[in-house]
Amino acid sequence: MAADCMRVRLHLRLIRVVAVLVDTIDALVVSVASTRSWSRCPHCGFRCRDVHDTRIRKIRDLPVSGRPVTLVWQRRRFSCGNCGQRHLECHDEFEGRLTRRLARALVADAKVMSIRAVARRHGIAWKTIMALVSSWAEAVGAHRRSKRCRVLLVDETSMRRRHRYVTVLQNGETGEVLAMVAHRNEAALSGFLAAQGHRWCRGVQVVISDGSTSYKAAIDRHLGHARHVLDRFHVVRWFAAGLTLVRRNTQRREPRGQVTPAFDPEVFRARFALLRRADTLTDADRERLDELFERHPRIAAGWAALQELYGLYLAEDRDGALAALGRFTDLYETGELPEFHHVVDTIIAWGDEILAYHDPTVDRASNGRLEGTNNKLQVLRRVAFGFTNHANFEARGILACPAIRSSPPRPAALTP
Ligand SMILES: [Zn+2]
Repeated sequence: MAADCMRVRLHLRLIRVVAVLVDTIDALVVSVASTRSWSRCPHCGFRCRDVHDTRIRKIRDLPVSGRPVTLVWQRRRFSCGNCGQRHLECHDEFEGRLTRRLARALVADAKVMSIRAVARRHGIAWKTIMALVSSWAEAVGAHRRSKRCRVLLVDETSMRRRHRYVTVLQNGETGEVLAMVAHRNEAALSGFLAAQGHRWCRGVQVVISDGSTSYKAAIDRHLGHARHVLDRFHVVRWFAAGLTLVRRNTQRREPRGQVTPAFDPEVFRARFALLRRADTLTDADRERLDELFERHPRIAAGWAALQELYGLYLAEDRDGALAALGRFTDLYETGELPEFHHVVDTIIAWGDEILAYHDPTVDRASNGRLEGTNNKLQVLRRVAFGFTNHANFEARGILACPAIRSSPPRPAALTP
């Protein structure tokens, strides 16, 4: 016997080792059998003990010391004493041609690696692993969709960079991805909501989306009773566009194409500081901005208007938000800031959905969590060099974006 020899257990329940068939540097093959003396008949439920014959099935297991392990299962065929039918025995530790623990390891790897990388690591076919991942994701997704969802988050992400889009649906309270539906139109979201059924839709109290009119149409149709909220981060981006326009109109130096640099560098350099909330500016930034405002009063006016718009979200409640909106309207009505007319159009079109943020049922919820999930999905997409198959992307996304076990923290209030 070799000096480095030892006895190790397989640690598979109700399995006994018959013999070690191959024990070399690059392979371990073990013949195994079930310790049970009976099998339940799948046709009539009778406990069968008559073994008709024995067949062999090769099953892959987790590697031992880096060596791939193959189990040769002496699989018995029973004949039923009750109905006379024959059937092959099943075992809880085995799933198809893999052990359950290997299947778990493959799915865990597929959460962070490409399927190709998992296939290479374990020496298992790509198709086998993808089928496993799909079937697990289907079960996980179906379970998540069967539960009640009070806050529904809706957003889009792409399968490849600026390629085809999918609509991502997430439970806002648990963080679970419920589904990723192909396309980002009304039919996509309507299809999902219709498939979920009327009862499930009744349970949704708050739905948060970006400013897409297609999503709004689907939400109005199926979730008319729920509070529809426009995601705060998308709205703030629209607001900021107003000031950006003011800055662009101010920084341009005339005559065009003859002066270099074409933009006033000092104004251009302040582009990020200008978009910050007043209460998050450092003293140095504040001083720089004050100097800028002295030379360009229009930028100062635009900045003040934007700060009032931010106040819509900083406000403690709906009345505070309306007051901030009133102050913005006063500034706009002076007629000095025509660049903000898009913002005004937005507020007129989406006012209800923007102010719904302060509703007690909404509780200052936003799509922040879904944006985080989208980040994860984009990492997944990059690892896979982009997806072409929507179903594969959905399966991977559902498995990679799991529920957070503890109850989620209440969204932090924006306090100045
Ligand atoms: Zn039977």
